[in-house]
Amino acid sequence: MSFADDVVCIGTSPQRLQILLNCAYDYSLRWRFEFNPLKSVILCYKNELEHVFNLGDNDVNILTETRHLGILRTVDLSPSSDIQLSCTFPTKFQWKNIVSSAVNPIERLQKEERMRRDNDFVKFLRLSENNNYDFLWQYAKISGRLLTAKHIAKLWTTPPTSGNCKLCGHFVLDILNHQICMCTELQSQRLSLYNRLTELTSFNFMYTTVSKSDESFSDLLLGNHEDLCDILIPEHRLEVLNEGFSFLKYCRL
Ligand SMILES: [Zn+2]
Repeated sequence: MSFADDVVCIGTSPQRLQILLNCAYDYSLRWRFEFNPLKSVILCYKNELEHVFNLGDNDVNILTETRHLGILRTVDLSPSSDIQLSCTFPTKFQWKNIVSSAVNPIERLQKEERMRRDNDFVKFLRLSENNNYDFLWQYAKISGRLLTAKHIAKLWTTPPTSGNCKLCGHFVLDILNHQICMCTELQSQRLSLYNRLTELTSFNFMYTTVSKSDESFSDLLLGNHEDLCDILIPEHRLEVLNEGFSFLKYCRL
């Protein structure tokens, strides 16, 4: 049996094994390579042997254990911990752990590194840093509004785009910010949003929030409700999210 540069000869008697070793040695002469005698060993699985094995001019050591392809083999055939580990197929739970400890951190780092070099992800990174991206899918689970969550995920991940607003037709530098804060086509929806949010929070809060930059108001509606978390009980936070997300359904990029 061979695997890359590893060769195993299996003989049912010392004489037969020696014949195989001679074959291997002849083959190495023909193809002009050398077996390393220090790395070659004999394992005897039945009786102890007084036999001397040769590989060309070199004796080959008889041992009771050796590593083959990284796995420890012993002459008593007891399953070593290596073999037990390599022969046990991991359960779903173990496999999840293996993936999360060995693969996920590396993949996550590479993905984050790539996103940081790319300006298209500025908004997504800002929002996902304050709210884990999973938050959107948790929201979908809690509220049952999967389509809304999908739409918001699209808004999170669309890079800031300039162009003609699909609702009013004007050329603007950032279509999403424009539609959230200024687009005349969404004026009535925006007013009812302000009213609802004022009811849920307070006039002062809304005044402060709206007077901040377009970007921070957009972020608030998109789910970056860090400020709200300080002053709202959890049920109201969900209501504020619902209101913001309901308004964002009118946005068309
Ligand atoms: Zn517009």
